[in-house]
Amino acid sequence: MSGTFLGMPAFPEAAAEAVADPVLRANLRHATHTIRDKRARAVAELDDWALLREAGKRIKDRTLRHLDTYLVELEAAVTAAGGTVHWAADAGEANRIVTDLVKATGEREVVKVKSMATQEIGLNEALAAEGIAAYETDLAELIVQLGEDRPSHILVPAIHRNRGEIRDIFRDRMARWGRPAPEDLTDAPADLAEAARLHLREKFLSAKVGISGANFMVAETGTLVVVESEGNGRMCLTLPETLISVVGIEKVVPTWRDLEVFLQTLPRSSTAERMNPYTSMWTGTTDADGPAAFHLVLLDNGRTAALADEVGRQALRCIRCSACLNVCPVYERAGGHAYGSVYPGPIGAILTPQLRGTASDIDASLPYASSLCGACYEVCPVAIDIPEVLVHLRGKVAGQGGKGHRLERAAVRAATWLLDHPTALAAGERLASATRKAHPARPPGAGAWTDGRDLPELPERSFRDWWRKNRA
Ligand code: SF4
Repeated sequence: MSGTFLGMPAFPEAAAEAVADPVLRANLRHATHTIRDKRARAVAELDDWALLREAGKRIKDRTLRHLDTYLVELEAAVTAAGGTVHWAADAGEANRIVTDLVKATGEREVVKVKSMATQEIGLNEALAAEGIAAYETDLAELIVQLGEDRPSHILVPAIHRNRGEIRDIFRDRMARWGRPAPEDLTDAPADLAEAARLHLREKFLSAKVGISGANFMVAETGTLVVVESEGNGRMCLTLPETLISVVGIEKVVPTWRDLEVFLQTLPRSSTAERMNPYTSMWTGTTDADGPAAFHLVLLDNGRTAALADEVGRQALRCIRCSACLNVCPVYERAGGHAYGSVYPGPIGAILTPQLRGTASDIDASLPYASSLCGACYEVCPVAIDIPEVLVHLRGKVAGQGGKGHRLERAAVRAATWLLDHPTALAAGERLASATRKAHPARPPGAGAWTDGRDLPELPERSFRDWWRKNRA
């Protein structure tokens, strides 16, 4: 079972630990820089990238404005095609629905396609509590699961691991879950892939239940879409007798023409490919081909609340490409675990506090986990203005109060008064310059804000005095 994020400290503490780990920083730097450079080249190939980006943004915004209509249309189409639709208001309800569906099949094992939604609700843990083993089949998710680790990247959940670490995890842990890794396993990518392939093949061939998410759901035909690079998803979607898909309600697109835009922007933004090696689509059930039973669990879990926020709702446009993670200077240094959620990086900093609220320390700290440099906005294929949402959410967190915020408000009030009284300001500047040698390197503690900032070194005299002497 993967570790969970429950009880994580706030971002600054979690990040401080990660920043002090040189191996982690080297792994992250190498991986993010490789992916970001490849993405830039893939995007530069398209003359109409800016238009595609704008089209994706508008399609998502229109869909979100009429989400109720498109979800009902989707439900009717899935039902007409032989599927069954379930509605889940929160994680608990979604987990109950899926667990009951698996139990009804009499099976105790399921194979899983990589899925953010099922990680978000902690499905593997909920299944395990009922005695059902869930096997991750995506290579990176397999590494995370075998290592009893937590994912740290949307696209590459084991980005924090290097090849040597992966070899050790395979050698030490694979036997506990099924076919063991060869004794003489090396850290060559081909050998690691072959060990995973042989291990997973047994699971695919014996599993009677598959669980997936979906990248998109097409309302007009009730078709679900999963894109991937390895083909493991295709196996999970086609071999088992029962398929259960857990999908966030924001993943719906109205038509196939709308889907076409995202099938161009998603692969280039995520894996820097012109198209995904595997694009699997399924519509309900088909006689004598693929799963005989198909269940779609539509997940809210905070999305409706996010939709009600006029600024914050743009986070629901996200197509989980992870381009924003790969360019983020904060993510590159702090890594994904510090965000305390399955959604790390810039998108996690705006999505998690909206889905979970800002009552906990970790969720309240996330909108501050950014330098607001704007690199995330520049690369986002659906033009989510992440800095705008971060500032908006900071306002909300500040509005919640707390000791740190009371001190901040008092400081701002004092500064307002000083800036309104030029004589007092000039006297204050002179005093500050005269006593500058006695100033501490950091301002005395008012919480994280002062702990993380150095006081600027003051000049011998204020600009005002310099001007009077040299220019007046
Ligand atoms: S916010 Fe944009 S760049 Fe980041 S994962 Fe979502 S779609 Fe990709």
